[in-house]
Amino acid sequence: MKILVVNAGSSSLKYQLFDMSDKSVLAKGNCERIGIDGLITHKCPGKPDYKINADFPDHRAAIKLVLSLLTDKELGVIESIDEIKAVGHRFAHGGEIKKSSVLGEDEVKYLQSIVDINPLHGPPALSGFMACKEVMPNANHVGVFDTSYYSSVEKHAYVYPIPYEYYEKYKIRRYGFHGTSHRYVAGEAMKLLGNENAKIITCHLGNGSSITATVNGKAIDTSMGFTPQDGVPMGTRSGAIDPTIVTYIMKTENVSPEEAEKIINSKGGLLGVSGVSSDCRDIRAAAREGNERAKLAIKILYHNIKKIIGSYIAEMNGVDALVFTAGIGENDKALREEVLTDMEYLGIEFDKEANDNVKGFADITKKGSKVKVFVIPTNEEYMIALDTQALTK
Ligand code: ADP
Repeated sequence: MKILVVNAGSSSLKYQLFDMSDKSVLAKGNCERIGIDGLITHKCPGKPDYKINADFPDHRAAIKLVLSLLTDKELGVIESIDEIKAVGHRFAHGGEIKKSSVLGEDEVKYLQSIVDINPLHGPPALSGFMACKEVMPNANHVGVFDTSYYSSVEKHAYVYPIPYEYYEKYKIRRYGFHGTSHRYVAGEAMKLLGNENAKIITCHLGNGSSITATVNGKAIDTSMGFTPQDGVPMGTRSGAIDPTIVTYIMKTENVSPEEAEKIINSKGGLLGVSGVSSDCRDIRAAAREGNERAKLAIKILYHNIKKIIGSYIAEMNGVDALVFTAGIGENDKALREEVLTDMEYLGIEFDKEANDNVKGFADITKKGSKVKVFVIPTNEEYMIALDTQALTK
C-alpha cells in the first residue's frame, strides 16, 4: 500500500510517499513560499534531486504539482494517483481528540471549532487537508494529531491552577505538543531496553522544544502547555516564565496583548537572551568567540532542561532511559554533555567518547549505567504513515 504523508504549514507543504510493503520512502519533498511565489524541492532515491520555482497561489496548486511530479514519467515513482490508497495529515493541534482518526465531517467540524486556540497551525493544516481531499477524493484521509499522545495525561497534570471556570468555559488546559515525535522515540527506546513498562523521558530539542515523561508507553506529563510556548526555552520562544512578566511588560512598555505575545513568542528564547540568533549553531559559534550573552543563553537552556528532567524523575519515582532527539538533541553534543554532567546521583553514567561520536541511533552512557541515555533520530512522518495504514486496512 502507498501512503502519502502531508504536513501543511502556513506557507509550506512537506510530503513523503511511503511504500508500506517494505516501509521505504519512495519520494519526499517540500513546497515552500506558497501564496508568495513558490519553490518545490522533490527527492526520490536513485534519481537526481529536482528543485524549481513554481507558481503556487495556494495549497491546492501545491498538492497538484506534487501529484504531477509523483506520477511524472521521468521523475515520478507511481503510474497513477489511484495507487495512493491513503493520506496521513499531520495536525499540530487536535484539541481533545484522543487518537488518530479518519477525517470525516465531525472531525473536520471539531478541528475548525478549535482554530481560535490554534491560530497559527490550524488554518493551514485544514487548507492542506481540504486541498488533498479535493484532488484525491478516493483516498482515505487520516488525521494524526500531535496532541493526542497526551490523552493519557491525568487531570491533575493538565488542569492549570487558575479559576476552574476557565477550563470549563474555554478549555484552557495543558494540551502538549510534538506528541508524534515523543511517541516514536519513546517507542524506539522501549524496544532498545526490551521493556514495555519502562519510565522514559524524551527531550525533543529543535527550534521548538518539549520534554515528555512516558510510563508503560503512555505519556504522563509534558512541558508544553495550552500553547507550544510553555516549558523549555526555545529558538525565539521564552518557554515557561512567571506569567506576571507579560502583564508587567504590557503596562511598562505600553504594548497590546498581541504585541506582548509576539515579544515572548518571537523575540524571546535563545534569540532574546543572546541577541545573536535563534539558531543554536550561531549561538555556539558566538559563545566560542567569547560572546557572554551567547554563553548565558546556552546556560539558561541546559539549566531549564535539567530542571524539567529532574521534576519528571521525581514524578515517575525513577527513570529507565532518557532520549535526545530533533535538531539540537540529535546534533549538539555539547548540549547533551552539559545536560548530563553531574547526574551520577540519578544513576546516569555519561560516556563522553560515545557522545562525541554519535551517528544516528546511539547509547551515550557507560556500560552498567543504571539509566540509559539514547540519541534517537525522530521520524514523525513514519509514525503518521503507520497510523494511517492501521486506519485504512
Ligand atoms: P524544527 O523545530 O524547526 O523542526 P529542528 O529539529 O530542525 O527544528 O532543529 C533546529 C535546531 O537544531 C536549530 O537550533 C539548529 O541550530 C539546531 N542544529 C541543527 N544541527 C545542529 C548541529 N550540528 N549542532 C548544533 N545545533 C544544531
